Amino acid sequence: MELDRYSPEEVERVIYHELGHYYGLEINKSEDICYGTHKVRVWGTVESQYELLGDTIPFIPEDVDPKRKVKFKDLSYYFARTAMGCIFQCYYQNSDINECYNQNRNGSEDIQQRQGQIDRFRLGYDFRDTLNKLEEHFLEKLIEEKLINFLDKIDLASELSLNTESNKYELNLELFWGLMESPKFEKFKSAYLSFVEQIDEALRNYKVDKSK
Ligand SMILES: [Zn+2]
Repeated sequence: MELDRYSPEEVERVIYHELGHYYGLEINKSEDICYGTHKVRVWGTVESQYELLGDTIPFIPEDVDPKRKVKFKDLSYYFARTAMGCIFQCYYQNSDINECYNQNRNGSEDIQQRQGQIDRFRLGYDFRDTLNKLEEHFLEKLIEEKLINFLDKIDLASELSLNTESNKYELNLELFWGLMESPKFEKFKSAYLSFVEQIDEALRNYKVDKSK
């Protein structure tokens, strides 16, 4: 399916969303939490009214169980990178994070994954609401201080190329990986890490089943 059925804004919105997950995974990798990203893909679907979808596939080495569960000590990083899709998307659109979670298929899948971990560790509604507030504050900070400006001036759509086997577009990650060297990215990264720290603090404040 050709991407020109979609407006340039829609294509960029989906790329922003996936780049949020991408940078979440890559920063988490730099903190030894995971193995980074395998692929970022974008494709149009004929179901759900031709919605444009995307996904970011984590890299998992061959000797690591792909079904391994998130450990409690890594949970704040997991919540942060799961939220990053909608955070980047809403930064691009200057919109509310809950809109992304509620109206968009890419966002609703993220919130389901997040809820899965909240249930698994019995964190409850209070924690969920706290996490949501932390996400909103982080998004506000990013917008106010323009902290995702390292993506400005990049023609994002031109970095997609069609994989004819899967019929999905794949993002040229080399370029986005290179941006992590820039001083602008350093500012963003330290804001992300303090967002992770805030989630961690919230986790410590809630009674949880840490046996898993
Ligand atoms: Zn997402």
